[in-house]
Amino acid sequence: MDVNKEELFDKVVNLSKRRGFVFQSAEIYGGFRSTYDYGPVGVLLLRNVKEQWWRSMVQFRQDVVGLDAAILSPPAIWEASGHLTNFTDPLVDCRECGSRFRQDKLEDQNKCPSCGANSSFTEARQFNLMFKTNAGPVIDSAAEVYLRPETAQGMFTNFTNVLNTSRKKPPFGIAQIGKSFRNEITPGNFVFRTREFEQMEMEYFVPPSDSDKWFEYWCKERMDWYLNLGMKEDSLRLRVHDKDELSHYSRATSDIEFSFPWGWDELEGIANRTDYDLNQHAKASGNRLEYNDSGSGERYVPHVIEPAAGATRTAMAFLMDAYEEEEVNGEVRNVLKLDHRLSPYKVAVLPLSKKDELIEPSKEVLNLVQPHWMCDYDQTQAIGRRYRRQDEIGTPYCVTIDFETLEDKAVTVRERDSMHQDRVPVLELIEYLSSRLVP
Ligand code: ATP
Repeated sequence: MDVNKEELFDKVVNLSKRRGFVFQSAEIYGGFRSTYDYGPVGVLLLRNVKEQWWRSMVQFRQDVVGLDAAILSPPAIWEASGHLTNFTDPLVDCRECGSRFRQDKLEDQNKCPSCGANSSFTEARQFNLMFKTNAGPVIDSAAEVYLRPETAQGMFTNFTNVLNTSRKKPPFGIAQIGKSFRNEITPGNFVFRTREFEQMEMEYFVPPSDSDKWFEYWCKERMDWYLNLGMKEDSLRLRVHDKDELSHYSRATSDIEFSFPWGWDELEGIANRTDYDLNQHAKASGNRLEYNDSGSGERYVPHVIEPAAGATRTAMAFLMDAYEEEEVNGEVRNVLKLDHRLSPYKVAVLPLSKKDELIEPSKEVLNLVQPHWMCDYDQTQAIGRRYRRQDEIGTPYCVTIDFETLEDKAVTVRERDSMHQDRVPVLELIEYLSSRLVP
């Protein structure tokens, strides 16, 4: 059954709350606008998105190493990077209703989306998106620090540390996953744009003359990552930035965009940042940030290709892309057809009934399976309803223990998408699941 695009958004938001993916933050206090908490299944989905990124960007590559840099950072970093002056969005106020908007995201530059007034906007002011706070007990300007608005700068400021300790040489990359904070003027669309979010970024340092080649390479590599994790080809596109759209440091940028219910919007930006960042930090800190090849004597400032993705935004896109409704025996079945690597639980262990004699063998099956995969265990309600619940949170395999299990020492394994069922001896269960649940 086709799910209407307009309805898809509400359905996924509703499912997120109902099944424990995402909750409004501070809900018992009326909610804290634009911040969200990830519930029992949401935290697993988010971890899996990040884990898959880490596997493809770090684990499977000998040319990329990881980093986990601090969130709190001194103004010097942001002065050098240009964020103190340039990390701004144009802010306009409606003179009629007082609502505030990010001017470049307004559909109609002359009409207020809140009250409909015409030509009621003030002149645009540049609003800096960084959150400022104070470190230490003395609240004065010397103690000012910023919450990082992107993870990237930690990779640049640690360039020499990583180079010296990892024994890598260009082309090589530094990857990082972590929280970033932006005081967005108009957060919204659920977790698409929030003030606190998680990013997955990698800075790939290359010899200057090779930067165009590596830029193309990373555009393709990153598109393939989404497709390989089951995102539909129709849902994705690569949008090349026009020359007048490029940031001041960028030689080329392309966005990977997803077809959200409100239209195409960014999941990830891939930029050729040239030697801008290393040069800026070298100038401001007085430290040389360059590569010195002891063999050839060659010395140069590497250029940087940066694939920068949002983990929380990407998790939401995977949810939207995977949501399907099917008619089964005259009833609607909601199913999240997530790639099993992203599914919160890989296996649900379900005793057919709550009778004592089934509980012990069910716990034995659970103990057998849970060292290998994230499992859910559920013994309440009719089995059909429990299957539906697992379908709705995307669990690829349900293992049911029934009265026959006591005789034949076998269980029923039901696959989510086909609903096909196999009878599998308990002794062969791990092998059966292992051949289907590849990491
Ligand atoms: P936008 O134009 O949407 O504000 P951006 O181009 O400033 O985003 P980048 O600085 O390139 O975004 O950040 C890289 C990625 O981080 C984005 O593609 C997105 O996935 C994620 N991201 C950025 N801002 C937010 C936010 N406020 N909430 C959630 N994710 C975000």
